[in-house]
Amino acid sequence: MEGCIFCKIVKGEIPCVKIYEDDRVLSFADINPILDGHTLIIPKHHAGNIWEISADDLAAVHRASQKVAQAIKETMKCDGIACLQLNGRAVNQVVMHYHLHLLPRSDGQPALAMTNWDLKPGNMDSIRKIAGKIASAIK
Ligand code: 5GP
Ligand code: ZN
Repeated sequence: MEGCIFCKIVKGEIPCVKIYEDDRVLSFADINPILDGHTLIIPKHHAGNIWEISADDLAAVHRASQKVAQAIKETMKCDGIACLQLNGRAVNQVVMHYHLHLLPRSDGQPALAMTNWDLKPGNMDSIRKIAGKIASAIK
């Protein structure tokens, strides 16, 4: 879709730190990570939200989330992973292309916000290093 930042990532017009890809979905590191290992999974075909995405793309995103979450768990040695997905400005959806956040958290780390958090650019060297490890752990 014209002007959509995630469609540009799918087309390779904007770079991303890729973690996983299949014919329907793309997974990459969030550039403003809330926590180390913060990963996004998107459908390649544009859909704004849960009301617009096709059932097949929705299933593909969530099938991929199981693979990626397994790799995150092994790599980050986290105690839990939040799968977070926002629909609409009212719940602070910022990028209007369906995406699932995977947020690994360990006991003792700060509590996770549900819909509102500050977008702070992460350290790209660290993001690349962590994403590389997660990508290598995908089976
Ligand atoms: P939401 O729409 O669910 O609030 O979150 C959008 C997410 O997309 C944010 O976590 C933000 O950091 C991430 N994001 C926005 N633009 C880019 C980008 O160009 N590249 C990557 N990798 N992530 C992005
Ligand atoms: Zn899009």
